[in-house]
Amino acid sequence: ATVLVTGASGFIAAHVVAAFLRNGYNVRGTVRSEKSAAEVRQTHADYASQLSISIVPDIAAPHAFDEAVKGVNGIIHTASPFVLNANDYEKELFQPAIQGTTSILKAAQEHNPDVRRVVITGSFASVLDPSKGLRPGYVYTEADWNPVTVEEAGTNGSIAYLASKTFAEQAAWKYVKDNKPNFSVTTLLPPMVFGPVVHHVKDVDSLNTSSADIYRLINGSETEVPVNAFWAFVDVRDVAAAHVLAFEKPEAAGQRYLLYTSPYSYQQFCDIIREKFPQLRETTPMGTPGAPIPPVYTLDTSKAVQQLGMKFRPLEETIVDTVESFLKI
Ligand code: NDP
Repeated sequence: ATVLVTGASGFIAAHVVAAFLRNGYNVRGTVRSEKSAAEVRQTHADYASQLSISIVPDIAAPHAFDEAVKGVNGIIHTASPFVLNANDYEKELFQPAIQGTTSILKAAQEHNPDVRRVVITGSFASVLDPSKGLRPGYVYTEADWNPVTVEEAGTNGSIAYLASKTFAEQAAWKYVKDNKPNFSVTTLLPPMVFGPVVHHVKDVDSLNTSSADIYRLINGSETEVPVNAFWAFVDVRDVAAAHVLAFEKPEAAGQRYLLYTSPYSYQQFCDIIREKFPQLRETTPMGTPGAPIPPVYTLDTSKAVQQLGMKFRPLEETIVDTVESFLKI
């Protein structure tokens, strides 16, 4: 079988593409440019015969995916901007997130009757209620929705990103309800995603948002341990595995799934880094070693565990492997 993976150049997508290739699938990746196509081919050079690339310059354009969807059996839609400091929210966030999502669903329905499942890389952003803060003791489930409104969406860059993911997921479910396509949709909802970087990155200054969030802890730019903006995370390899399972499991049709390891704090990350990488002690803030994570919301993963068969690797493994991957760049 062949799956189309949109945004194949990304941090998460590199692991998603690798997971499908390892499982014997052919993958067609979409990227924005020839340069990016060459980099993606390089990343997956061991599976060259199973990988093809399709160039989609602007995912927000009408009919952007009409050609790319032809001939595949399923679609994994990961392409969406993850930036917390956009200037033009409409152009940089809302249009690519929302129109990108509806346009791939429309392309599949109109141009490829063989597509049976579309898995969308959503986000815990569309579940979290940011106005509730740390919400100690609260357990988020798939029944929760970020209540953000169109009016509130432009409050700041962070809210705008969360809103872009919320509106995009809502648009996907609305599309299914209104148009009743032959395929089913599954959305995966990871909180912050950390883990080894395997995609092409020009240099450490061009890391994706969640990787840069860890990299700043080791590069000397933070003299104090930063305060968390988000409190829940999951490993990128587990997120990739979830995409394959969500594609394969019939019972995932029409479902959303939270993916989650545990709460975290940057203090905890700095403690692990300073212990496991003595050479980074000078550039990693010390803070208050061993300080506990404040009481904070958690995420219920029982649905992903029971229906998809998910397992989540422990936090320390994620952080050690993440930092090791930075040292290689
Ligand atoms: P990356 O920035 O590494 O990847 C984003 C991907 O989307 C890239 O392939 C990028 O292409 C593509 N993309 C972004 N904007 C556009 C656009 N306007 N037009 C075409 N392509 C675009 O981030 P991640 O891998 O982290 O993100 C992948 C997905 O995971 C996103 O949907 C994100 O919302 C979601 N997610 C990520 C989390 C995280 O912590 N990392 C947490 C929860 C969800 P290009 O390489 O050309 O820029």
